[in-house]
Amino acid sequence: MSDSQKQYSRATFDEVMVPNYNPSQIIPERGEGSRVWDQNGKDYVDFAGGIAVTALGHNHPGMLKALKEQSEKIWHLSNVFTNKPALELADKLTAATFADKVFFCNSGGEANEAAFKLVRKYANDNFPEQGKSEIIAFKQAFHGRTLFTVCVGGQPKYTKGYEPLPEGITHGEFNNIDSLKEIISDKTCAVVMEPVQGEGGIIPAEPEFAKAVRELCDKHNALLVFDEVQTGVGRTGHLYAYQGLGVTPDILTTAKAMGGGFPIGAMLTTTKISKSMGVGTHGSTYGGNPLACAISNVVIDEINTPEMLSGVKEKSAKIRTRLEAIGEKYDVFESVRGEGLLIGAVCNEKWQGKAREFLVSGWEHGVMCLVAGLSVVRFAPALNITDEEIEQGLERFEKAVAAIA
Ligand SMILES: *Cc1c(COP(=O)(O)O)cnc(C)c1O
Repeated sequence: MSDSQKQYSRATFDEVMVPNYNPSQIIPERGEGSRVWDQNGKDYVDFAGGIAVTALGHNHPGMLKALKEQSEKIWHLSNVFTNKPALELADKLTAATFADKVFFCNSGGEANEAAFKLVRKYANDNFPEQGKSEIIAFKQAFHGRTLFTVCVGGQPKYTKGYEPLPEGITHGEFNNIDSLKEIISDKTCAVVMEPVQGEGGIIPAEPEFAKAVRELCDKHNALLVFDEVQTGVGRTGHLYAYQGLGVTPDILTTAKAMGGGFPIGAMLTTTKISKSMGVGTHGSTYGGNPLACAISNVVIDEINTPEMLSGVKEKSAKIRTRLEAIGEKYDVFESVRGEGLLIGAVCNEKWQGKAREFLVSGWEHGVMCLVAGLSVVRFAPALNITDEEIEQGLERFEKAVAAIA
């Protein structure tokens, strides 16, 4: 039974939700910029950004305007029709990247599902009878939660119990080109990587490694797929991280920040490769939904400016310097790593496996951050977070650290 007068709490979650998450006791109610208020009116500085999603913060006036305007025109059509917001967004994404073609969907997992299907299809179309079906990805990688994408991901704990699993997927060591050399062959249809491993612990790809991966792919006629679901849309100080790495993929997937909090994802590729996804070969009911695309157009316009992107690097430096100082002062972090506003504070020996304690203490002290694995505290704030919000958030984070260290 539902009742709008009923008081809901975290306990309700255990009554009515599938127990696959363990959310905080806090129930946030509204947000403004990089600040969030909970049901009790307590405020938090938001360094989590809904897991690298709310890249323009909460309640952004431009996004709100686009949402309102489009909501009074048309919400949804399906791909029986195309629509102006989707065409405009695809035009923008292809103008700003290597890509000529865009496929829209609703999440990162779906964008990767499309990419992984496409690399198989492309190999079957272009290299028939070669058994060119093997996908190589990397250990600790994260590519989503569909059965195919968890299997391409490099964390066995996420596939355990879901057997039988899709086949033809192998994993190399990230940032170790010799490991890739050993497993890549003419049977490989694609190599998949995150420019910065996100969920795996905020581990940036070394530029030399990325370049060598590109060369090995070319040598074996394998496609290179960059999963930029977390690193994309300005997060690293480039519209897409590949632009900073100087290595161009054949297929790029993007989601998370792309809608700034409204669900949307996309797969980007070249005209040649896109031909393997002809009429009827793949699809999505919601993909390219006008409401989602209208909002995403604002997100891309706001973020893809030199000011916003250089701001990301300045804010990053500020946060990293302070986190290093906190880590040293309280003897909790051994290093701080990442790119742009995707930052990981790595727990030292003493705090191995205990990153979540910093998260929970942060909530008590009015700051939201994230973890990446068991031993890295992750920061993925809005790209337009203000200096004042950064300052106050870090003060609160320091108190949170001091309280437990
Ligand atoms: C979050 C994430 C995904 C999955 O995105 P969903 O929208 O949760 O399906 C895939 N790849 C990377 C690198 C991610 O960070």
